[in-house]
Amino acid sequence: MVLATSFLQDNNFIDALYILAVILFILGLRGLSGPQSAVRGNKIAAVGMAIAVAATLLKKGVLPDGETLLLIVVGIAIGTAIGIPAALRVKMTQIPQMVALFNGVGGGAVALIAWAEYRRRFPGADGDWTLKAEIPSLFAAIIGSISFWGSNIAFAKLQEILPGKPIKLPGQQLLNLLLLVVAVGSAIALAAGVHSQALFVLGILVAAGVLGNMVVLPIGGADMPVVISLLNAFTGLSAAAAGIALDNFALIVAGTIVGASGSILTNLMAVAMNRSVPSIIAGGFGGGGELPAAAGGGDADRGPVRSTSAQDVAIQLSYARQVVVVPGYGMAVAQAQHAVRELSRALESKGVEVRFAIHPVAGRMPGHMNVLLAEADVPYDQLKEMDEINPEFGRTDVSLIIGANDVTNPAANNDPGSPIYGMPILEVNRSSSVIVLKRSMSSGFAGIDNPLFYDPKTAMLFGDARASVSAITSEVQSL
Ligand code: NDP
Repeated sequence: MVLATSFLQDNNFIDALYILAVILFILGLRGLSGPQSAVRGNKIAAVGMAIAVAATLLKKGVLPDGETLLLIVVGIAIGTAIGIPAALRVKMTQIPQMVALFNGVGGGAVALIAWAEYRRRFPGADGDWTLKAEIPSLFAAIIGSISFWGSNIAFAKLQEILPGKPIKLPGQQLLNLLLLVVAVGSAIALAAGVHSQALFVLGILVAAGVLGNMVVLPIGGADMPVVISLLNAFTGLSAAAAGIALDNFALIVAGTIVGASGSILTNLMAVAMNRSVPSIIAGGFGGGGELPAAAGGGDADRGPVRSTSAQDVAIQLSYARQVVVVPGYGMAVAQAQHAVRELSRALESKGVEVRFAIHPVAGRMPGHMNVLLAEADVPYDQLKEMDEINPEFGRTDVSLIIGANDVTNPAANNDPGSPIYGMPILEVNRSSSVIVLKRSMSSGFAGIDNPLFYDPKTAMLFGDARASVSAITSEVQSL
């Protein structure tokens, strides 16, 4: 028994477990690169995390007594009781706010680790805090705190607890600078060994926390997923710093992986929206939908809107040679992906070539459309990325837009005054005709009008996307 315990607590054995955990993290991440392997990748990474947690608990001194073990078990039980039902119940459209919340919890945990390390190791307590451990701890406290409080605001905005519109205060930039100076100044003072250390540690946590709130409040709803990805990268970096402070190899590697992948994802999303990360942080863009106008209405400046029927759409689609389906956020809301798959099968049986155009930021999270269409068994080779499908629109008979709006807005190409000017779009307006399925004339996430809807070659089929697609499919089958 003693032999087994000393083997399990052997540093080499624990390091071997950490290496295994890290290998599983990397394999898991690799699995996330495609919808077919994503679920398996997630499971592999979860096993890696379980091994890393077990290895940490085995370390000498981590579980000094039964009381500590009980506290850890209670903590795990509470986290499991909240996490599993929340993850099971969350709707696909609410995943971004869930990611914000979970990411924030990670940042908060890192800030608490820094606080606990300060209490445990500061001179005067029962240990010593060398600069080697102190600097990463202070970094983790600042970044973890920013990430926790910033993510909470991101969650509240996406959950519509706070308005999605940018919220700006007078002199905000100056205030942010002041908060940063207080947080970093307190960290430098602590590292220099000032007295009243507890005050300075609290100063860091509070100033960085308020800064996290203040940085995210002025950012509009449309930019929020990018901000969440950025905060995710922050959490990763702070976790890596905490790993250095705790001398924990697995935490350093896992934090670095999260930091690096979060940074890459942030950059990819910013590029897909043609916005720089600093301009997103500067805020003031987006803010959610507005003015649900009457179906079939029009705009005095833009001209009339042509509305159509399921029967007319079915005839047009059935006699087309090539149809490109453009899914967007509305398809996710209506859960229309299975109905869309049925329609594409019905059209294919009539010899129509059907393809799906995937914009990188369609929906509300990266890969949103790929996940939904994979769930409905749409063959992967029918999904075409934006760069691949855009040259095809000139040869397309009908573009069928299902609950997409911003990602098709031609103002991004030809209106320098538009807030989304420069964002790459799916160029559906180059196809011979366009059919748009949505419920009304209301705007998409960027909160702006879409001139495509007033284009003479566009016809609108108003209604819930799932009901509309099913009605079209019945008509196609009866032809
Ligand atoms: P949009 O948000 O532009 O438009 C969605 C449209 O779906 C709305 O105009 C709405 O119109 C319609 N809709 C909603 N519910 C239904 C329903 N039940 N049936 C039919 N239609 C419905 O979506 P896009 O996918 O075109 O664009 C995504 C937006 O999100 C972009 O602005 C992008 O920048 C932003 N974004 C996306 C990120 C990502 O990672 N995917 C990240 C950050 C931002 P109506 O109410 O009239 O039905």
